[in-house]
Amino acid sequence: MVHRNPCIANLKAGYLFPEIAKRRREYAQAHPDAKIISLGVGNTTEPVMPHINAGLVEGARRLGTVEGYSGYQDEGLLELREKISAVYYGGKFGADEIFISDGAKCDIGRLQLLFGAGTKAAVQDPSYPVYVDGSVLAGAAGAGSGAGYDGIVYLPCTAANNFFPDLSPVPVNGLVYFCSPNNPTGAVADREQLASLVDAAIKKGSLIIFDAAYSEFIRDTALPKSIYEVEGARECAIEVNSFSKTAGFTGVRLGWSVVPAQLQYESGERISADWNRVCSTIFNGASNIAQAGGLAALDGEGQKEIRSLTDFYLGNAHIIRSALQKIGIHCTGGDNSPYIWSHFPDRDSWEVFSEILEKCQVVTTPGAGFGPAGGGYVRFSAFGHRNDVEEACRRLEQLG
Ligand code: PLP
Repeated sequence: MVHRNPCIANLKAGYLFPEIAKRRREYAQAHPDAKIISLGVGNTTEPVMPHINAGLVEGARRLGTVEGYSGYQDEGLLELREKISAVYYGGKFGADEIFISDGAKCDIGRLQLLFGAGTKAAVQDPSYPVYVDGSVLAGAAGAGSGAGYDGIVYLPCTAANNFFPDLSPVPVNGLVYFCSPNNPTGAVADREQLASLVDAAIKKGSLIIFDAAYSEFIRDTALPKSIYEVEGARECAIEVNSFSKTAGFTGVRLGWSVVPAQLQYESGERISADWNRVCSTIFNGASNIAQAGGLAALDGEGQKEIRSLTDFYLGNAHIIRSALQKIGIHCTGGDNSPYIWSHFPDRDSWEVFSEILEKCQVVTTPGAGFGPAGGGYVRFSAFGHRNDVEEACRRLEQLG
């Protein structure tokens, strides 16, 4: 029989969210009357808003007409790429520097193909699991001993450093995955912090892969929404972003990456040329219908809807954070991000997860699932219907 890819065997545990779903299922089977509420996974719950939805519907309608029909569009609709540059980057990027995709997670997975095995990567610890698990699948990280992986440099983000890491371990000629607003801590790096990240990357000859999937949740206007707000970032950073959490496109699937023309490998070759090659070789572009929805999301009315949807989830975050603080649980995040990072000192986070599930029938995400420094923390997600969030918060009082 065919051999299993040894990289898959190197993955230490099942992917975090399927594991949480499994534990939820087991609890539901044992307690069939329990009304479980999920504040665990970062999946959106509210309907796509009317103007953006009309864009999707119109995109589908056009496909049924001779004049409106379109087929493959590889790197994405020119109009959409231009509009992303205008709305998110003040027109600083050419359309050929913006690549439309089926989402940020998919881009993060595919980007790993550019660097191959043996490329060291630094990650914020804790971090969104795909940076590490994707590196393992790509053969860039091996099964290490203990909780971590060989080839991954963990940059602890803790209360002691206000969730911004010491950057001195950033590898030479490697990668740094950086997510702000951060999933799971909810921390947002300020301008000086991002400037120090860019500085560290340039000095080390490393490339930043900046995940801005939650940038539209930032309300503090002093905080940067993109790595390109920092001078020098074009020489050392790729940015990924997505319509998932802002326009409710988690199931529609639409995102983008920015690969500046001047980004180079050590050998002097252009990274964007290879990215174009990878995308056109193993990816055939985002759905035309999703792109029509994306265009609607980027006009004036669509932007208002995005603001209103993100305001709604931030309202949930405020309710959750207040409920936790009321019972004496210290938390961060939830003000410029949809995640609340709650501290249960000296506790095992899977044990806290089980306690909250058993006492309150509320699903959370154990911090340890996001990296070694996530132990002792539990993540609450603000993605939920308002009445579910309010009911979950009433139940959480039992933890006090
Ligand atoms: N990046 C981060 C930090 C996320 O938390 C998520 C989803 O939870 C994604 C990317 C995935 O985005 P997409 O739906 O565009 O693949």
